[in-house]
Amino acid sequence: MPYYDKNAILKALTKEQVIKIVTDLGSKGYKTDSSGNLIFQTICHGGDSYKLYYYHEPTDQYSGRTFHCYTSCSESFSIFELVIRAKRVQGITYTWYQAVSYIANQIDMKAVEHIERPKHICDMSWLKKFGKNKSTDIIDCEPIDEHVLEMFEYTPHEVFLNDHISRETLSTFEISYWGNTNQIVIPHRDRHQNLIGIRGRYLDEEDVENIGKYVPLNIEGKFLSHKLSHNLYGIHINQNKIKACRKCLLLESEKGVMQNHSYFGDDDFSLAVCGSEISDEQIKLLLDYLKIEELSLGFDKEYKDPYGWDGELYKNKLFKKIRPIIPYCKVSILWDKEGVLDYKDAPTDKGKETLLKLLDDKVEITMEDITLEGTYYV
Ligand SMILES: [Zn+2]
Repeated sequence: MPYYDKNAILKALTKEQVIKIVTDLGSKGYKTDSSGNLIFQTICHGGDSYKLYYYHEPTDQYSGRTFHCYTSCSESFSIFELVIRAKRVQGITYTWYQAVSYIANQIDMKAVEHIERPKHICDMSWLKKFGKNKSTDIIDCEPIDEHVLEMFEYTPHEVFLNDHISRETLSTFEISYWGNTNQIVIPHRDRHQNLIGIRGRYLDEEDVENIGKYVPLNIEGKFLSHKLSHNLYGIHINQNKIKACRKCLLLESEKGVMQNHSYFGDDDFSLAVCGSEISDEQIKLLLDYLKIEELSLGFDKEYKDPYGWDGELYKNKLFKKIRPIIPYCKVSILWDKEGVLDYKDAPTDKGKETLLKLLDDKVEITMEDITLEGTYYV
């Protein structure tokens, strides 16, 4: 399965190709406005009026390579999302990956050739130069059959939409719905884009109480589970950004990564451990594979008073978790000094402004803090 870089595809995309793709998808033709922007029929929701605008180059309002539907959808989206929507109108389910492949197949592949999934061996030879041989230590999970994703319903669920997660992000992370068990479906992919497991979020209170909120999805008696500790959720989407900026915001849950992605789009540099522990494998991914130099720990707020005993106790728990990383990288923790979050909230739970404030106020942790504090509670 090739790995496509969506930004490289968008960059390579010409206006002529966009016209061909959108007419193939069902628009009977196109018009242009006075600025030369293309206007198509609203195939995004199945309408036929010419109200679907395409902004090829960035404008004051749009970031470029952007569609905007001025009627029913009244939203902006990328060509990948347009494929998903137009196909949905035709009764065909496209996952995000399928939509990206669809576009990739319509453009000059030479332009995107260089971003084929990097071979494992490249990392190895690079690391050998430094006398290390660590990449063999990262154990990837066994991929599962990609086709399983086709059985779910790709309708954005209000539980997530009402929780600071955008439609675009739900598409990007291939979030869908499984009616049989009333679960939101969350596919997990690894750094090679392989599908390695699927988790479901139960919506019925009774299920949440008896089984748990987030559990591996069970399809026909088979659990689509994987070792959560051998991956970092979101790595398939955010790894390029993280490698480029060498920073990572480490969160607990998938939801946190999706919220962060809704706030920052392509600038999202978050990943989730999917639990509250940081495993050795995850540390290897962060340090050896992603080569981060700065880690911000954004775990859930499990204290009521940031200056009280429960705050201190929790801080020490976090210290223990990040202790193995501190010698190799600058580490900070997001600490809610001013009570902007509720108890048990993730730092991403209260919107972008609150998160930015927490990021601004983050507290740097050094080895000194760890040894000092550690002697009291460990
Ligand atoms: Zn529309």
